[in-house]
Amino acid sequence: MTDKLSTYRGKRDPSRTPEPVPADGPLPQGNDDTFVIQEHHARRLHWDVRLERDGVLVSWAVPKGLPLDPKTNHLAVHTEDHPIEYATFSGEIPKGEYGGGKMVLWDRGHYELEKWSDREVKVVFHGARAQGRYVFFQTRGRDWMVHRMDPPPDPDWRPVPVGLRPMLPVRGELPPPGERKSWAYEMAWGGLRALVAVEGGRARVTDARGEDVSAAYPELHGLGPALGSRVALLDGELIALDRGGRPDPRLLRRRSPRDGAPERRAVAEVPVSYLAYDLLHVAGRDTTGLPYEDRRELLEGLGVGGERWDVAPSLGGAEEALAASRDLGLEGVVAKRLDSPYEPGRRSPHWRLVENRETRQVVIGGWVPDGSGERVRALLVGSPDEGGLRYAGPVRSGLAADGPELVRRLRRLSRKTSPFTDEVPVRGDVHWVRPTLAGEIASTANGTLSWRGFT
Ligand code: MN
Repeated sequence: MTDKLSTYRGKRDPSRTPEPVPADGPLPQGNDDTFVIQEHHARRLHWDVRLERDGVLVSWAVPKGLPLDPKTNHLAVHTEDHPIEYATFSGEIPKGEYGGGKMVLWDRGHYELEKWSDREVKVVFHGARAQGRYVFFQTRGRDWMVHRMDPPPDPDWRPVPVGLRPMLPVRGELPPPGERKSWAYEMAWGGLRALVAVEGGRARVTDARGEDVSAAYPELHGLGPALGSRVALLDGELIALDRGGRPDPRLLRRRSPRDGAPERRAVAEVPVSYLAYDLLHVAGRDTTGLPYEDRRELLEGLGVGGERWDVAPSLGGAEEALAASRDLGLEGVVAKRLDSPYEPGRRSPHWRLVENRETRQVVIGGWVPDGSGERVRALLVGSPDEGGLRYAGPVRSGLAADGPELVRRLRRLSRKTSPFTDEVPVRGDVHWVRPTLAGEIASTANGTLSWRGFT
């Protein structure tokens, strides 16, 4: 009789691996009804499914684990028979040894045999996690597939949705003080929006348009193995930090997803991190209909935390959040209603982008009419200082409310020369005015000025 474990022994040196390596000899006799599934964090994460048969554990390495969906078959690579003693093994196989990496007992229990041939094995698992009827069938050589013959374990079970687009905020103001407790406040990171689907130990990253950009961000490949057999669809943003630890959109642009797989140097120079702030699906369950606060609780319980990925903070205080976003040099905060569902692909008033704005007093020194001459395209404003009026910039937004009335007031103040002490770099149809009209402007983090009204 050939030694069933000779291949197993040939791959291992018992002085270097903690794995059981039994001496050559008669094989134990059991009931051929024990199985074990080990989660094996080798170079590529996989699950080893082993069935007791004639004194050994007949084994398959299943890269995505047993499928729960009867519509999706998973690859199962037939591997060498393992000794029965392996059914209780867990531990760290040293790096450099065969199968180097952590081996975790994922499930064990009994199985019922329905059919066993050289090309097809049908079993029913009765484990704590693995349950139901499965068939392993050979496709070519060592390549087999595993198919679930039972329906999904729970009638409400759903596969991870594909093609979802992220929910978007509207621009707006903070909720009134009396309502602020019904909202949560997150940083407006200014990063690249990305949904990350984690399933079968693999992370798939899609951008806001639903394009797969996984290859462009190798930093996130470890997120799949880190979550193991947990299944989730995350919403969040990719960010790149500057030397001071602040998110920097210009740095992030150096890692454009259009460029595909980046060079190793680019990854080293501009590493990208993922901040998850919402959860759309977990463990076969659609969570988009749950309120924000419940989704956040599930997200925080998922254990997403690593060197290159984390859960983004959600704060209860609006002022505290705005102060934090100013400290980080961000555009502002996103206020999210605690009781609101997730609306994929929709720009929803349940999420508000509230910009950080600084307001200041200015004096109008000129203006540029629109094509009709009846409205203001831009106000040219300045700050009075010792020498006169110092130019502060063009104000192009926030003017609609003041329209024709503003034009009448400006025409009455008309003068031929610029009242500014310095050069005004605006071309075209510029009209100068006597610097007597004062108002308030707001400036955003990106330098855009908007008109708030006369003072
Ligand atoms: Mn393995």
